[in-house]
Amino acid sequence: MADEMKAVHTEVVSVDPQQPAADVIERAAALLRAGELVVFPTETVYGLGGNALQEEAARRIFTAKGRPFTDPLIVHIAQKEELEQVAAAVPERAWRLAEAFWPGPLTLILPRGERVPRLVTAGLETVAVRLPSHPVAQALIRAAGRPIAAPSANRFKHVSPTTAQHALADLNGRVPLILDGGPTPVGVESTVVDLCAPVPRILRPGGTSLEALRQVLPEIEPPSPPRIGAGDEPGGQEGQAQRSPGQLLIHYSPTVPLLLFDGEDAAQRAALKAEALKRLEEGKRVGILAASEDLEVLRPCQERGALVRAPASLEEPARVAAALFATLRALEEAGVDVILCRSFKPVGLGLAVQDRLRRAAGGRVILAEAESGESASIDAP
Ligand code: AMP
Ligand code: MG
Repeated sequence: MADEMKAVHTEVVSVDPQQPAADVIERAAALLRAGELVVFPTETVYGLGGNALQEEAARRIFTAKGRPFTDPLIVHIAQKEELEQVAAAVPERAWRLAEAFWPGPLTLILPRGERVPRLVTAGLETVAVRLPSHPVAQALIRAAGRPIAAPSANRFKHVSPTTAQHALADLNGRVPLILDGGPTPVGVESTVVDLCAPVPRILRPGGTSLEALRQVLPEIEPPSPPRIGAGDEPGGQEGQAQRSPGQLLIHYSPTVPLLLFDGEDAAQRAALKAEALKRLEEGKRVGILAASEDLEVLRPCQERGALVRAPASLEEPARVAAALFATLRALEEAGVDVILCRSFKPVGLGLAVQDRLRRAAGGRVILAEAESGESASIDAP
């Protein structure tokens, strides 16, 4: 784990997300060129950026996040052509994906170019690269004049930040500058695709859907579900770098326990309600993350003081994704003792939503039985 650090003053500066002011971008870029860190918005979540070609800057990123050095960083570029500066080889299928999805929430794993320090890739001979679409991210990387390594701007294992305030809550005193460009539109991290494996595979589902990727690369393999009891601890596997750090099982944890329900829709609703009423009866403060279709059934819970949040309908997984992390943080900040959560179908961005929820639940899902209203606790497959 990266060591402790000296406190710095953290300034938050507003920036127009569509047309960022040149002087603000230049100030942030100067910090990056000097090897300092800057938090900036991307279309997925806020990133904690540093010069990707400088080992010392990368070290600062790990330290500011409290992230283990076994967990590699994503390198962000401003133009497709810069891929060749950071990757040793760019296969034809990488160009095809880049052509179709960049700029956007897709990260490609390629052979590491020698200019990228091994610290950035956690010792791996592969590098993760992405070209973000957010105008602030693009302007900043371009002005910095070099690739920018940027993991999510949260403390290690906390929920990723989708607003500058989330990033400030986690990193106040640990970075000099946060660019506030408002809430990030996609709301979950990028999809990571391994192009170094014999068959391309999704290592982490995210803001680019499997369905969309398959239109371009039909052979692409879906992600394997998070494994229980393996990789929960950084460097747990004899200090080996994670193939994908997003695969750490407990990676997106709210600071309060989260119980994830699954099963037929009506059964999930009934189980959420029963569990909430039971806990309210015990005097617990209960938060519920649901869909708008659940609201009517959950009204009695709300009337007894449960905080019920339903960011969108079951048919709108992209809207659920956009609101997911902010909703988890809001429930956490409201001081609930437990978050009860429904499952979302793994369709479109629902695949990423369900992945993050499962991790937040520590890999356990509670299967709601259709008739009896009973629930059985099982491990995720
Ligand atoms: P984040 O903190 O969201 O930026 O997480 C970093 C992500 O980068 C992880 O989830 C990984 O999927 C990915 N990653 C970075 N470098 C590599 C690499 N060399 N091989 C595989 N995955 C990587
Ligand atoms: Mg992260």
